[in-house]
Amino acid sequence: MDKPAPVPMPEAQRFWEGCRRHQLWIPYCNRCQDFFFYPRPFCPRCFDWSVDWRQVSGRGQIYAFAVHFRATNPLWADDVPYVTAIVQLEEGVRLFTHLVEVEPDPQQIHSGMPVEVVFEDLSEEVSLPKFRPAASAPGAATEGVPS
Ligand SMILES: [Zn+2]
Repeated sequence: MDKPAPVPMPEAQRFWEGCRRHQLWIPYCNRCQDFFFYPRPFCPRCFDWSVDWRQVSGRGQIYAFAVHFRATNPLWADDVPYVTAIVQLEEGVRLFTHLVEVEPDPQQIHSGMPVEVVFEDLSEEVSLPKFRPAASAPGAATEGVPS
């Protein structure tokens, strides 16, 4: 049996469209000039309905994580151990997600660890944003490159 896939709600349609193209789009309040998450048709801080969507970097850091050694749903039994996390994006919002490409070992993962988004295609319609350890620390990409 297949695992259940997310069913996009109308207010989150833009988020899931972005994921399908392997882009992360987050709602942005024009009045607060700040991002918020989860998607809602109005800003949860000022209740203004002037909301846009902006593509974000996909970079962030682990805020909190959990290593799961027992599946609470039998459909995930083959996946244990796996890691769930709350990731804080550079843009300040937090997403609940899975951590991939990492040893499911609490000694190898820590809060503040830099991560970047990757997408897992579940179907033609749905891709899941997950996060992996960032390839390099911010700014490191340009170090050692002759100018
Ligand atoms: Zn606002």
